[in-house]
Amino acid sequence: RFAYVDGQYVPHAKACVHIEDRGFQFADAIYEVIAIRNGALMDERGHLDRLVRSLNELKIPLPMSLTALPIVMRELIRRNRVRNAALYMQITRGEAARDFRFDPDLAPTLVMTVRRADFSHTKQLNQGLKILSVPDLRWARPDIKTVMLLPSSLAKMHALEQGADDAWLVDANGYVTEGSSNNAWIVTADGELVTRPADGRILKGVTRSALQHIATLFQLRIVERPFTIAEAQAACEAFSTSASAFVAPVVSIDGKMIGDGKPGRVALGMRERYLRYSEGAHGA
Ligand code: PMP
Repeated sequence: RFAYVDGQYVPHAKACVHIEDRGFQFADAIYEVIAIRNGALMDERGHLDRLVRSLNELKIPLPMSLTALPIVMRELIRRNRVRNAALYMQITRGEAARDFRFDPDLAPTLVMTVRRADFSHTKQLNQGLKILSVPDLRWARPDIKTVMLLPSSLAKMHALEQGADDAWLVDANGYVTEGSSNNAWIVTADGELVTRPADGRILKGVTRSALQHIATLFQLRIVERPFTIAEAQAACEAFSTSASAFVAPVVSIDGKMIGDGKPGRVALGMRERYLRYSEGAHGA
Protein backbone atom coordinates (compact mmCIF):
# COMPACT_ATOMS: atom_id res chain seq x y z
CA ARG A 1 0.00 0.00 0.00
CA PHE A 2 1.34 3.42 -1.01
CA ALA A 3 0.70 6.97 0.11
CA TYR A 4 1.70 10.22 -1.58
CA VAL A 5 3.45 12.76 0.65
CA ASP A 6 4.84 15.97 -0.77
CA GLY A 7 6.17 14.80 -4.09
CA GLN A 8 6.87 11.16 -3.24
CA TYR A 9 5.09 7.83 -3.34
CA VAL A 10 6.04 6.09 -0.11
CA PRO A 11 4.97 2.85 1.64
CA HIS A 12 1.87 3.69 3.68
CA ALA A 13 3.48 2.52 6.95
CA LYS A 14 6.41 4.90 6.42
CA ALA A 15 4.37 7.95 5.34
CA CYS A 16 4.67 10.90 7.72
CA VAL A 17 4.58 14.69 8.05
CA HIS A 18 6.60 16.78 10.49
CA ILE A 19 5.35 17.45 14.06
CA GLU A 20 5.49 21.19 13.32
CA ASP A 21 3.12 20.87 10.40
CA ARG A 22 0.25 23.33 10.91
CA GLY A 23 -2.23 20.60 10.05
CA PHE A 24 -1.13 18.84 13.23
CA GLN A 25 -0.65 21.96 15.40
CA PHE A 26 -3.69 24.04 14.36
CA ALA A 27 -5.93 21.78 12.23
CA ASP A 28 -4.92 24.31 9.57
CA ALA A 29 -5.86 22.04 6.70
CA ILE A 30 -8.58 21.01 4.30
CA TYR A 31 -9.44 17.64 2.77
CA GLU A 32 -11.49 15.78 0.21
CA VAL A 33 -12.69 12.20 -0.08
CA ILE A 34 -13.46 10.84 -3.54
CA ALA A 35 -14.91 7.40 -4.19
CA ILE A 36 -13.32 5.18 -6.83
CA ARG A 37 -15.94 2.75 -8.11
CA ASN A 38 -15.10 0.08 -10.69
CA GLY A 39 -11.84 1.92 -11.31
CA ALA A 40 -13.42 5.34 -11.96
CA LEU A 41 -13.33 8.45 -9.79
CA MET A 42 -16.86 9.55 -8.88
CA ASP A 43 -17.74 13.23 -9.22
CA GLU A 44 -14.07 14.16 -9.57
CA ARG A 45 -14.81 17.63 -10.92
CA GLY A 46 -17.16 18.48 -8.05
CA HIS A 47 -14.63 17.42 -5.44
CA LEU A 48 -11.76 19.30 -7.07
CA ASP A 49 -13.90 22.44 -7.39
CA ARG A 50 -14.74 22.24 -3.69
CA LEU A 51 -11.08 21.61 -2.79
CA VAL A 52 -10.14 24.82 -4.56
CA ARG A 53 -12.94 26.70 -2.80
CA SER A 54 -11.82 25.43 0.63
CA LEU A 55 -8.23 26.49 -0.11
CA ASN A 56 -9.37 29.92 -1.30
CA GLU A 57 -11.47 30.49 1.82
CA LEU A 58 -8.40 29.83 4.00
CA LYS A 59 -5.93 31.49 1.61
CA ILE A 60 -3.85 28.33 1.35
CA PRO A 61 -2.13 28.17 -2.05
CA LEU A 62 -2.68 25.17 -4.34
CA PRO A 63 0.21 22.71 -3.73
CA MET A 64 0.35 21.87 -7.44
CA SER A 65 -1.49 22.79 -10.61
CA LEU A 66 -4.99 21.51 -11.27
CA THR A 67 -3.55 19.65 -14.24
CA ALA A 68 -0.93 17.85 -12.16
CA LEU A 69 -3.19 16.97 -9.23
CA PRO A 70 -5.43 14.47 -11.11
CA ILE A 71 -2.29 12.87 -12.55
CA VAL A 72 -0.94 12.23 -9.05
CA MET A 73 -4.36 10.94 -7.97
CA ARG A 74 -4.40 8.43 -10.83
CA GLU A 75 -0.82 7.37 -10.28
CA LEU A 76 -1.54 6.67 -6.59
CA ILE A 77 -4.64 4.66 -7.54
CA ARG A 78 -2.58 2.72 -10.10
CA ARG A 79 0.20 1.95 -7.61
CA ASN A 80 -2.32 0.72 -5.06
CA ARG A 81 -4.05 -1.53 -7.63
CA VAL A 82 -7.55 -0.74 -6.38
CA ARG A 83 -10.86 -0.66 -8.24
CA ASN A 84 -13.18 0.14 -5.35
CA ALA A 85 -11.67 2.51 -2.83
CA ALA A 86 -11.75 5.92 -1.21
CA LEU A 87 -9.12 8.47 -2.20
CA TYR A 88 -8.27 10.83 0.65
CA MET A 89 -6.47 14.12 0.02
CA GLN A 90 -5.36 16.55 2.67
CA ILE A 91 -3.68 19.90 2.11
CA THR A 92 -2.24 21.71 5.12
CA ARG A 93 -0.87 25.25 5.23
CA GLY A 94 2.56 23.70 5.68
CA GLU A 95 5.34 23.27 8.16
CA ALA A 96 6.48 26.14 10.43
CA ALA A 97 7.58 26.67 14.04
CA ARG A 98 4.38 26.80 16.10
CA ASP A 99 3.00 30.35 15.97
CA PHE A 100 -0.51 31.78 15.57
CA ARG A 101 0.92 34.06 12.91
CA PHE A 102 1.85 32.39 9.64
CA ASP A 103 3.78 33.26 6.53
CA PRO A 104 1.24 33.62 3.70
CA ASP A 105 3.81 32.13 1.34
CA LEU A 106 4.38 28.95 3.31
CA ALA A 107 4.65 25.90 1.04
CA PRO A 108 1.56 23.73 1.64
CA THR A 109 1.78 20.03 2.49
CA LEU A 110 -0.10 17.59 0.26
CA VAL A 111 -0.91 14.10 1.48
CA MET A 112 -2.91 11.47 -0.41
CA THR A 113 -3.95 7.96 0.58
CA VAL A 114 -6.14 5.29 -0.96
CA ARG A 115 -8.14 2.80 1.08
CA ARG A 116 -10.10 -0.16 -0.27
CA ALA A 117 -13.85 0.17 0.20
CA ASP A 118 -16.87 -2.10 -0.10
CA PHE A 119 -19.51 -0.08 -1.91
CA SER A 120 -22.12 -2.84 -1.73
CA HIS A 121 -23.06 -1.20 1.61
CA THR A 122 -24.96 -4.38 2.48
CA LYS A 123 -25.85 -3.59 6.10
CA GLN A 124 -26.65 0.05 5.40
CA LEU A 125 -29.05 -0.95 2.61
CA ASN A 126 -30.69 -3.96 4.27
CA GLN A 127 -31.19 -2.47 7.72
CA GLY A 128 -31.00 1.29 7.19
CA LEU A 129 -29.38 3.69 9.63
CA LYS A 130 -30.54 4.53 13.13
CA ILE A 131 -29.87 8.20 13.82
CA LEU A 132 -29.42 10.05 17.11
CA SER A 133 -29.80 13.83 17.20
CA VAL A 134 -26.89 15.68 18.81
CA PRO A 135 -26.32 19.45 19.30
CA ASP A 136 -24.19 20.96 16.53
CA LEU A 137 -21.14 22.26 18.40
CA ARG A 138 -18.93 22.95 15.37
CA TRP A 139 -17.32 26.27 14.50
CA ALA A 140 -19.21 28.87 12.45
CA ARG A 141 -17.66 27.86 9.07
CA PRO A 142 -18.73 24.24 8.48
CA ASP A 143 -19.08 25.20 4.79
CA ILE A 144 -15.30 24.84 4.52
CA LYS A 145 -14.08 21.24 4.45
CA THR A 146 -11.43 21.60 7.16
CA VAL A 147 -9.93 18.75 9.20
CA MET A 148 -11.39 20.27 12.39
CA LEU A 149 -13.58 17.23 12.82
CA LEU A 150 -13.48 16.74 16.61
CA PRO A 151 -17.09 17.86 17.34
CA SER A 152 -18.36 15.61 14.53
CA SER A 153 -16.26 12.68 15.73
CA LEU A 154 -17.49 13.10 19.32
CA ALA A 155 -21.09 13.38 18.06
CA LYS A 156 -20.70 10.15 16.10
CA MET A 157 -19.15 8.34 19.09
CA HIS A 158 -22.01 9.52 21.29
CA ALA A 159 -24.51 8.16 18.76
CA LEU A 160 -22.70 4.80 18.61
CA GLU A 161 -22.58 4.56 22.42
CA GLN A 162 -26.36 5.03 22.45
CA GLY A 163 -26.82 2.17 20.00
CA ALA A 164 -27.38 4.36 16.91
CA ASP A 165 -25.37 4.31 13.67
CA ASP A 166 -24.79 8.02 13.13
CA ALA A 167 -25.54 11.49 14.50
CA TRP A 168 -27.59 14.24 12.89
CA LEU A 169 -26.49 17.63 14.16
CA VAL A 170 -29.08 20.13 15.32
CA ASP A 171 -28.57 23.91 15.46
CA ALA A 172 -29.56 26.24 18.34
CA ASN A 173 -32.97 26.85 16.70
CA GLY A 174 -33.81 23.15 16.61
CA TYR A 175 -33.17 22.65 12.90
CA VAL A 176 -31.08 19.81 11.51
CA THR A 177 -27.87 21.06 9.94
CA GLU A 178 -26.44 17.79 8.55
CA GLY A 179 -25.06 14.39 9.54
CA SER A 180 -21.69 13.88 11.23
CA SER A 181 -20.11 13.35 7.78
CA ASN A 182 -23.03 13.55 5.37
CA ASN A 183 -25.97 15.69 4.29
CA ALA A 184 -29.42 15.01 5.76
CA TRP A 185 -32.64 14.60 3.76
CA ILE A 186 -36.29 13.79 4.33
CA VAL A 187 -39.08 12.84 1.94
CA THR A 188 -42.50 14.38 2.64
CA ALA A 189 -45.95 12.91 2.03
CA ASP A 190 -46.11 15.08 -1.11
CA GLY A 191 -43.04 13.30 -2.44
CA GLU A 192 -40.78 16.31 -1.98
CA LEU A 193 -37.12 15.70 -1.19
CA VAL A 194 -36.18 18.21 1.49
CA THR A 195 -32.65 19.19 2.47
CA ARG A 196 -31.21 22.19 4.23
CA PRO A 197 -30.04 25.03 1.96
CA ALA A 198 -26.28 25.59 1.70
CA ASP A 199 -26.74 28.55 4.05
CA GLY A 200 -23.25 28.49 5.51
CA ARG A 201 -24.29 26.07 8.30
CA ILE A 202 -23.56 22.92 6.28
CA LEU A 203 -20.96 21.50 3.97
CA LYS A 204 -22.32 21.66 0.44
CA GLY A 205 -22.01 17.97 -0.41
CA VAL A 206 -20.93 16.96 -3.88
CA THR A 207 -23.31 13.99 -3.63
CA ARG A 208 -26.06 16.42 -2.54
CA SER A 209 -25.40 18.50 -5.67
CA ALA A 210 -25.48 15.34 -7.81
CA LEU A 211 -28.91 14.46 -6.41
CA GLN A 212 -30.12 17.95 -7.25
CA HIS A 213 -28.95 17.45 -10.81
CA ILE A 214 -30.59 14.01 -11.00
CA ALA A 215 -33.84 15.43 -9.62
CA THR A 216 -34.08 17.87 -12.51
CA LEU A 217 -33.49 15.04 -15.01
CA PHE A 218 -36.25 12.91 -13.48
CA GLN A 219 -38.57 15.82 -12.66
CA LEU A 220 -38.43 15.11 -8.94
CA ARG A 221 -39.01 18.00 -6.57
CA ILE A 222 -36.17 18.99 -4.29
CA VAL A 223 -36.93 21.70 -1.77
CA GLU A 224 -34.13 23.44 0.10
CA ARG A 225 -35.37 24.41 3.53
CA PRO A 226 -34.41 23.64 7.12
CA PHE A 227 -36.39 20.93 8.96
CA THR A 228 -36.62 19.86 12.59
CA ILE A 229 -36.09 16.42 14.15
CA ALA A 230 -39.85 16.22 14.83
CA GLU A 231 -40.55 16.86 11.15
CA ALA A 232 -38.00 14.25 10.12
CA GLN A 233 -39.54 11.71 12.52
CA ALA A 234 -42.95 12.30 10.93
CA ALA A 235 -41.59 12.18 7.35
CA CYS A 236 -42.26 9.28 4.95
CA GLU A 237 -38.55 8.63 4.53
CA ALA A 238 -35.19 9.99 5.54
CA PHE A 239 -31.70 9.44 4.16
CA SER A 240 -28.20 10.85 4.14
CA THR A 241 -25.75 11.44 1.29
CA SER A 242 -21.96 11.42 1.06
CA ALA A 243 -19.16 10.45 -1.30
CA SER A 244 -18.42 7.24 0.60
CA ALA A 245 -21.95 6.10 1.57
CA PHE A 246 -23.71 7.44 -1.57
CA VAL A 247 -27.37 7.48 -0.52
CA ALA A 248 -27.94 5.84 2.88
CA PRO A 249 -31.53 5.17 4.02
CA VAL A 250 -32.43 6.25 7.58
CA VAL A 251 -34.99 4.10 9.42
CA SER A 252 -35.21 5.76 12.84
CA ILE A 253 -34.37 9.03 14.56
CA ASP A 254 -34.03 9.20 18.36
CA GLY A 255 -35.75 5.82 18.63
CA LYS A 256 -38.76 6.84 16.53
CA MET A 257 -39.38 4.75 13.43
CA ILE A 258 -39.52 6.59 10.09
CA GLY A 259 -42.39 5.41 7.85
CA ASP A 260 -42.60 1.61 8.11
CA GLY A 261 -39.11 1.40 9.63
CA LYS A 262 -37.57 -0.05 6.47
CA PRO A 263 -35.23 1.61 3.94
CA GLY A 264 -37.45 3.81 1.79
CA ARG A 265 -38.32 3.40 -1.87
CA VAL A 266 -37.34 6.97 -2.77
CA ALA A 267 -33.95 6.70 -1.03
CA LEU A 268 -33.14 3.38 -2.72
CA GLY A 269 -34.29 4.76 -6.07
CA MET A 270 -32.08 7.83 -5.70
CA ARG A 271 -29.15 5.61 -4.88
CA GLU A 272 -29.64 3.60 -8.08
CA ARG A 273 -29.97 6.77 -10.14
CA TYR A 274 -26.87 8.23 -8.51
CA LEU A 275 -24.83 5.15 -9.38
CA ARG A 276 -25.99 5.26 -12.99
CA TYR A 277 -25.43 9.03 -13.16
CA SER A 278 -21.87 8.73 -11.86
CA GLU A 279 -21.05 5.98 -14.34
CA GLY A 280 -22.11 8.34 -17.09
CA ALA A 281 -20.37 11.35 -15.55
CA HIS A 282 -16.93 9.94 -14.74
CA GLY A 283 -14.18 11.49 -16.74
CA ALA A 284 -16.18 14.74 -16.55
N1 PMP B 1 -21.36 17.14 5.40
C1 PMP B 1 -20.25 16.84 6.08
C2 PMP B 1 -20.03 17.49 7.41
C3 PMP B 1 -19.30 15.95 5.55
O1 PMP B 1 -18.18 15.68 6.22
C4 PMP B 1 -19.56 15.34 4.31
C5 PMP B 1 -18.60 14.33 3.73
N2 PMP B 1 -17.49 14.92 3.16
C6 PMP B 1 -20.74 15.67 3.63
C7 PMP B 1 -21.62 16.58 4.20
C8 PMP B 1 -21.08 15.07 2.29
O2 PMP B 1 -20.30 15.64 1.27
P1 PMP B 1 -19.93 14.81 -0.03
O3 PMP B 1 -21.23 14.38 -0.64
O4 PMP B 1 -19.22 15.78 -0.88
O5 PMP B 1 -19.10 13.67 0.42
